[in-house]
Formats: sequence, structure tokens, C-alpha cells
Amino acid sequence: MLANLAVFLDRDGTLNEDSGYVTSPEQLVLFPGVPEALARLNDIGVQVILVTNQSAIGRGFMTADDFQLIHQKLVDLLQVHDGSIDAVYYCPHHPNEDCACRKPNIAMIQQAAVDFSLDLSRCYFVGDKWSDLEAASRVGASGVLVRSSDYSTAALQARDHGQFSIAYVADTFVQAVDWIVQELLQQQECVSEK
Ligand SMILES: [Zn+2]
Repeated sequence: MLANLAVFLDRDGTLNEDSGYVTSPEQLVLFPGVPEALARLNDIGVQVILVTNQSAIGRGFMTADDFQLIHQKLVDLLQVHDGSIDAVYYCPHHPNEDCACRKPNIAMIQQAAVDFSLDLSRCYFVGDKWSDLEAASRVGASGVLVRSSDYSTAALQARDHGQFSIAYVADTFVQAVDWIVQELLQQQECVSEK
């Protein structure tokens, strides 16, 4: 029943510490409990899809190969606790390029929806920045804000100014996953009662 459903995830500031640009594997440091939380999403049967702006490539701070090395480290760290990511979409462009993929634009999410036959209205997007919540809003997904970086304050302000609504505000990624899992289990119960 959850096959056409995904939990989209931002990376920097959501799964790992956002210390400026992450341009080498050594700089990727996960928040506590992230691999275990991802494993719970895997167990429940939803697609887990990373959607990340990586303008460090467009700015010349790293190459696409560097990004792949960093992603491999993420995969390795998650695997220690049986967590995994089903797909990764990243925007390599400089903000000045006005591309369609850089969040809050939605080309990456739309591509994932095609690739995985997703019903975006039933999907979730977890992120720490206003651009994540704005992207979620534009595709009709439920936005979940994690307050694990300083950027989350701007997202709350944007919500308070009516720019978008936020389905849930969590202090940590683990709390965000707790809430999503609870929501999904309730939906499953409703379906099985019919
Ligand atoms: Zn782009």
C-alpha cells in the first residue's frame, strides 16, 4: 500500500551537520540516530529519496565526483544500522543559473515522482530550510521541518507570514521520523478497515 509513497529528505542540516559546504567525505557528520531512523522508514516500505542542492559544484568548490564520494560515505554510514536511501537527486548548479532543479524549484521532485510513480500528495518532505518547505508546498506534499540547523528559524518565519504551512515541526530528525511513521501506520489501519 505504501509503494507509491515516498519520504523525501534534504541532506545538509537535516541528516548531517551543516557546517557551510560539505566538500569532502570527512566533513559529512551525521546527527545522532539518523541511520536507525532511516532503517525504520525502510522497514515500513516507503521510498526514501534524497533531494539536495549542491551548489558547491557550480561554485567550483568541488566536482560531481567529489559529491559521489561524499554520497558513498553517507551510504556506508547508513548501512552500519541497516538504513538505506532508494535514490538521490542533486542540483549541481550555481544559484545564478536559474535552473529548474534547485530547491525551492521542483524539477527533482517531479522527476522522482515519474521514476517511482509517486502520489506526491501523500508524500512527505523533511528539511531544515524554507526552500525545502516551499518545495514541499509547491508539489502538495506534507512538509516536515527539523530544527537541527539555524536555518529553521527562517522557515518558521515564512510559515508565520503565510508563505506555506508546515505539517509538523520536529526538534530532531529522529523525532520527524517518529511522527511520519505514526502517520503512515494510522493510514494503513484506515485502509485495512475498509
Ligand atoms: Zn539545478
